[in-house]
Amino acid sequence: LLSGCGKEKDYLVVGTNAAFPPFEYVGGVSGDQVMGFDIDLARKIAEDAGKTLKVENMKFDSLIVALNAGKIDMIASGMTITPERQASVDFSEPYYEATQVVLVNKQDDSIHSLADLAGKHFAVQLGSTADIMAKKYTQSVTAFNTGFEAIMELKNGKVDLVLFDSEPAANYLAKNPQLKLISLDFPPEFYGFAVAKSQPELLASINKTLATIKQNGEYDALLAKHMK
Ligand code: GLN
Repeated sequence: LLSGCGKEKDYLVVGTNAAFPPFEYVGGVSGDQVMGFDIDLARKIAEDAGKTLKVENMKFDSLIVALNAGKIDMIASGMTITPERQASVDFSEPYYEATQVVLVNKQDDSIHSLADLAGKHFAVQLGSTADIMAKKYTQSVTAFNTGFEAIMELKNGKVDLVLFDSEPAANYLAKNPQLKLISLDFPPEFYGFAVAKSQPELLASINKTLATIKQNGEYDALLAKHMK
């Protein structure tokens, strides 16, 4: 049987930052439901473990702390597997490949390669891989609690660019035609679900669900549902 903070209540408590469409966002008929690709995957993982999914929406930067404090059982938040994070949590097998992209205002024609990023004023999401990577190119990085706020700052002309994950960037771009997306030579990133290091059974159960749904077509059906 799986143990963890949800065990007495038969819940799988999943932490996310629901400002990362199409992986997690707030919507639905009531306008206050957390939904998305990660949430559908998490629901499947919970079902297979005989649990009911419960979603806790919090700051991205608080997720690992909440996990290790036992407030949540699993992180499902488009979180990239990195060696730094692996020092404090365990990740599932990778379930999605992404990369960073640059968003700028449409009239900006100054960025054609990674070298052009030097010294630019970046806006990023606090604690993200973009936040860490930005510091390789510039001293001038402003970090926000959500990518949405970073994009607002760009639209208001307060920063030169936003460094953000490819799929959410494309999603925000669709609603902001005054911006454009630039693909540069950034390395691939792999998203994983994170659990506390004390939860190997939960980790095994997550990996089993992922393997099953990749085999039986459910994973591809969810991709088709959520990715444009
Ligand atoms: N994939 C990025 C990271 O892990 C951003 C995730 C996010 O903003 N939800 O840092």
